[in-house]
Amino acid sequence: MNSDVEDELSPLPSEAPTALLTPPPDGSVLFSGIQPTGELHLGNYLGAVKHWATLQTQYSAIFCIVDLHALTVPFVSGEMRGRIFEMALGILACGVDPQRSPLFVQSQVKEHAYLGWILNTLTPMGELERMTQFKDKSEQHRKHVNAGLFTYPVLQAADILLYKARGVPVGIDQVQHIELCRMLARRFNARFGDVFPLPSAMLSPVPKLVGLDGDAKMSKSKNNTILLLDTADAIWSKLKPAKVDIARARRTDAGSPDNCNIGAMHQAFSSEETNAEVREGCTTAGIGCFDCKKKLLTSMTGELAPIQERYQALKRRPADVWEVLAAGASTCRTLASRTMAEVEQRIGLGDRLFFV
Ligand code: SF4
Repeated sequence: MNSDVEDELSPLPSEAPTALLTPPPDGSVLFSGIQPTGELHLGNYLGAVKHWATLQTQYSAIFCIVDLHALTVPFVSGEMRGRIFEMALGILACGVDPQRSPLFVQSQVKEHAYLGWILNTLTPMGELERMTQFKDKSEQHRKHVNAGLFTYPVLQAADILLYKARGVPVGIDQVQHIELCRMLARRFNARFGDVFPLPSAMLSPVPKLVGLDGDAKMSKSKNNTILLLDTADAIWSKLKPAKVDIARARRTDAGSPDNCNIGAMHQAFSSEETNAEVREGCTTAGIGCFDCKKKLLTSMTGELAPIQERYQALKRRPADVWEVLAAGASTCRTLASRTMAEVEQRIGLGDRLFFV
């Protein structure tokens, strides 16, 4: 290794910590991705897709189903297409408008992997070793700890930088990855000249939900979540036994919606008026948890019913859904190839070497 290379991977000057969470100006490019896990559940909906549908009116948003990321954990290849289709249906049913914001599948735009490789060469191993998500996932999938899982945040940085996005709607557990993405953009710019803006993490306004069973993570595999397509009966059968604020051991004990997953869901689904009633009732023991959950059921089904209708209508037109994804990929390929031409030129790679 020569001394130049050592310099390239040395620590960069630190930046103001607030920069990471400073929202970009209106109209900026946003990029966000979601893994093709199949049918959406409440955690995906509130943590990501509902937020996307709002942000698309204020920003120039690009949304992606990140199937390459999904290869980093065990999967069944015959199921991947169906999972992608289900996820696209869910995203569109939740109100993402593909006329306004391209929606596409990551593997359809090969530049993601190309830029990912280039960024790999700029990433110090030590930065990846400290990533919390890598530690958690390698613990979960002990027999499948692969290099792709290790470099996952680098591919994620490529996803974002390829479109020169300034904002990235993410969950709190992804903020560390956006920090790494900023570091890679700064490192690339410092070495090859300014190409990439530094993106900010944009957190969902909804408090993070834990599993209905009290587990830290809400997920389908743990069967502790509500699915977007659950009927009212199915939702109620899950809400009834759901954990509440432990301070409310008895009906006469006061509690707080701030310490309760049901309270967090009220914030996401119920009106201000209902939230005020719940807060007053909970803190004075004036409402029982059963009635509080019934109110939540009403709010939740009121919001989910039209989404479920749109989902079923779209499901009857699968060709249209695939067409949306193909059009999104075509738009994004154009944008991505433009960025990669610039990247190649700065580095000294690519076709232009052969056509002087
Ligand atoms: Fe949670 Fe509602 Fe019970 Fe309060 S009343 S602890 S918010 S379920």
